Amino acid sequence: MSIKANLKEIRSNIPEYVTLVAVSKTKPNTDILEAYDAGQRIFGENKVQEMVQKWETLPKDIEWHMIGHLQRNKVKYMANFVSLIHGVDSLRLLQEINKQAIKHNRVIDCLFQIHIAEEDTKFGLDQKEIEEITASGQLKKLENVRIVGLMGMATFTDNQSQVRKEFENLKAIFNNLKNTLPSISILSMGMSGDYQLAIKEGSTMIRVGSSIFGSRNYH
Ligand SMILES: *Cc1c(COP(=O)(O)O)cnc(C)c1O
Repeated sequence: MSIKANLKEIRSNIPEYVTLVAVSKTKPNTDILEAYDAGQRIFGENKVQEMVQKWETLPKDIEWHMIGHLQRNKVKYMANFVSLIHGVDSLRLLQEINKQAIKHNRVIDCLFQIHIAEEDTKFGLDQKEIEEITASGQLKKLENVRIVGLMGMATFTDNQSQVRKEFENLKAIFNNLKNTLPSISILSMGMSGDYQLAIKEGSTMIRVGSSIFGSRNYH
């Protein structure tokens, strides 16, 4: 199937309120433009340099989401245009995003990444760490970042009940956090293999790559 057909199929299978982030990492501009021509405007990348190159050459009404693990020294390269940063996993990173946002006179929207998977290889905060950050009073001082929600990645497994449990856990943390941060509204969870389940468990934003663009080749 074509990129256009894949997008149409996915859109027809998800509720209106769910935002679809088309994950275009490793994919060429021609593929992105095919999705763009089919109406897609939100794209996700996991490497800052690659995202900057694509932003420079592609239409300026694209919203770029940074979905990967982010190093503090890379924030400055995308602070002028990134529209949502999904993977914020420390206060120090958030402070750096705030600092760079000030330079561009912007407010940058961010999600805290929560570690819900069994695997250690996935990044993110746990419930206790997120509570520490919100209780510290530090967030209020960072006027050029806005925490708009949470993001998480489930374990890569065929075990549906485990994945469901991890999504439920993230949704519970989200509901909890809403008491202290009423402004949060985005729950970014679900990828090609598990977005249907994620939506059932309360996702409002899915990050889908291979089901749109086909499988990726890493060299
Ligand atoms: C690559 C990636 C995705 C998309 O994965 P697919 O399985 O291709 O849909 C989603 N989220 C993150 C954080 C990713 O790195």
